[in-house]
Amino acid sequence: MEKIIVVGAGFSGATIARLLAESGKDVIVVDKRDTIGGNAYDCIDKNGIRIQPYGPHIFHTHDKEIFDFLSKFTEWNKYEHRVKAKVRKDKVVPVPFNLTSLFELYPKAKAERIKDVLVKEIGLDKKVPILQLKKHESAEIREFADFVYKNIFYIYTMKQWGFKPEQLGEAVMNRVPVYVSEEDRYFTDEFQYMPKNGFAEMISNILRHPRIQLKLRTDAMKRLTFADGVIYLDGKPLDGMVIYTGCVDELFGYKYGVLPYRSLKFKFKTLKTPSYQESAVINYTTSHKFTRISEFTKFACEPQENATVIVKEYPQKFKKGKNIPYYPIPIEKNRQHYAKYEQEAKTYKNLYLLGRLAKYKYIDMDDAVRYAMDLYTEITGDTVDINDIANN
Ligand SMILES: Cc1cc2nc3c(=O)[nH]c(=O)nc-3n(C[C@H](O)[C@H](O)[C@H](O)COP(=O)(O)OP(=O)(O)OC[C@H]3O[C@@H](n4cnc5c(N)ncnc54)[C@H](O)[C@@H]3O)c2cc1C
Repeated sequence: MEKIIVVGAGFSGATIARLLAESGKDVIVVDKRDTIGGNAYDCIDKNGIRIQPYGPHIFHTHDKEIFDFLSKFTEWNKYEHRVKAKVRKDKVVPVPFNLTSLFELYPKAKAERIKDVLVKEIGLDKKVPILQLKKHESAEIREFADFVYKNIFYIYTMKQWGFKPEQLGEAVMNRVPVYVSEEDRYFTDEFQYMPKNGFAEMISNILRHPRIQLKLRTDAMKRLTFADGVIYLDGKPLDGMVIYTGCVDELFGYKYGVLPYRSLKFKFKTLKTPSYQESAVINYTTSHKFTRISEFTKFACEPQENATVIVKEYPQKFKKGKNIPYYPIPIEKNRQHYAKYEQEAKTYKNLYLLGRLAKYKYIDMDDAVRYAMDLYTEITGDTVDINDIANN
């Protein structure tokens, strides 16, 4: 019988597995970790605080279909994410940089003048990418943009990616624009929530289906081999398909070299205090080796009386076998490198690449669900109708 093997039990793997199972197909999902949810995995620590061992994840989307799909598998806590940047020892301002940040950092009269120019040239309530602002025809705006670039973007981006903002280009830099408004939410999407009992439970519910068989602690690369357009399972040609959400260079034995990724080292600390910092996340944009401090109790909407947990993030170079590949680095040279693997994948008619690592793309959790829905349509020819999906 035709086998469908999904490699990876993160957002991408779980969504595609569930959609295929709903359409009557039997699916095997394997993950080499002993946890589900991929990098969105979360758990409760010894103090009863929900933490995210692979880094803080906040759900947000403008796409109602994605929100409705996930709502079948979780209840939600309303949560609007707010981030601040520690620019100087005594100055913590909202990011994305907004009019409040402007008045915090400039003398009042100058701030008023810059605000007037921004409103006139860009428009009130508009968002504008920093790289665009830096090229603006007004000298006053360019001067302001240089100030924001220096204090908010440059050092943070160098720490996070090891590249200057200009080298990364718009796809990355546009994620955090400058707001010509007092909007202080990090995301402006219509749907901003945290799953009430966490991401891992939500994904566990997505995977709970009689046609899905889940195998954790199972490294697909120990059983699957890929050679000359044929996929082998335990040495025999596979009758079926593989949907792969891991690193594409690993899939092909690194034959075109290791793809560059950015890794992270997390330093967690439990503190005997109900609150550590004024905002859920504080970015360190001009100092320190870490990029940001996140405080988990502030995401959970259930502050504890006597304890809180913070995590500092130290970006690092990825070293194969030594640390985890978290972020594909979206620069042209790397995209060309990835294209070789993508071409190779196309020679296997029963292999589908999906997700952040296999597609070598900087995607959020909602994008992962959307790409899985698109792949479902590509494989089956059907569009997803979420009304047909049972609640868990
Ligand atoms: C630090 C950090 C913070 C983030 N914050 C946010 C956020 O706030 N909001 C947001 O929307 N998104 C956020 N993201 C992005 C989010 O993590 C991804 O969009 C999402 O997890 C992608 O899911 P995925 O299933 O494609 O990949 P992953 O979550 O990486 O899952 C891939 C899975 O495949 C498994 N796997 C790989 N190779 C094999 C193999 N050979 N055999 C078996 N299993 C294998 C892995 O163990 C893993 O579980 C963040 C990402 C990071 C790194």
